[in-house]
Amino acid sequence: MVGMRSKRSIALLAVLLVMVAGSGCGKKETVKVGIEQNFRPFTYMENGDKKGFEVDLWQAIAQKADMKYELVPMEHGELIKSVKSGAVDLAIAGMTVSNARKNNFEYSSPYFQTGLVVLTSTDNGVIKGKEDLAQKVVATKNGSTAFNYAGEIQGAKIRSYSNVADVYNELKNNTVDAAIFDERNAHDFLQDKAQGQVKMVGETFNKERYAVVGKKRNKYIGKVNQGIESISKDGTYETMYAKWFGAKPDKMPDKIKKEMEYEMQHETVKGR
Ligand code: GLN
Repeated sequence: MVGMRSKRSIALLAVLLVMVAGSGCGKKETVKVGIEQNFRPFTYMENGDKKGFEVDLWQAIAQKADMKYELVPMEHGELIKSVKSGAVDLAIAGMTVSNARKNNFEYSSPYFQTGLVVLTSTDNGVIKGKEDLAQKVVATKNGSTAFNYAGEIQGAKIRSYSNVADVYNELKNNTVDAAIFDERNAHDFLQDKAQGQVKMVGETFNKERYAVVGKKRNKYIGKVNQGIESISKDGTYETMYAKWFGAKPDKMPDKIKKEMEYEMQHETVKGR
């Protein structure tokens, strides 16, 4: 039996411990945040600098949430593994919220909505969209949502690469018939590096909503969500969006979130 007195001192001790842990002995802990080396214009490295819409966005979120952080650049394939192993606490790198990943990870509120697209050689007159990919060789990035999507196309032959630069090179060299990837990144490639040799065909498909990802029950997601909310309200989000995408956002994060929650509840296709 634990007496009333000792119960009270246990409670007191607990409160003290929480206070010490919370204060970190006067130091704020540094949150490790994984970013991607090559996912323009969201997160990428350029001459040793970390750049992109998500780098700016994260900085603003962290400021609002009063978080000290360190950005850790790595390859896409390493990101999910590093979140899982705890090598980083969070990742911000165009991570699409998917029901399949939700079993293992926790997501923040989404802050960006986009989709997937099909790319093919400029002189390809046969492929006009995702409906024309049966029996075609289709390149995409390993472990991405585009890779999952491509895997479901009847009869398509999938080649996957860990770096999206290789996907685009194959397209330019005409060693594959088409590629599937995230729309904004593909758009960036078309503008900057395709030299007129590659085009986008058909509609944008498969909603991709990007969010910050962490381990299940991690202690940061709540703060991140508050940060997203406050930069949406005070105009920071809109300013950053305009800086990187040259226009006002079609949808603000709160709207993206509402739509996503509705659709995820009514989702019939599993595993995406
Ligand atoms: N949005 C895609 C995914 O979540 C690709 C992300 C990326 O390449 N950084 O899988």
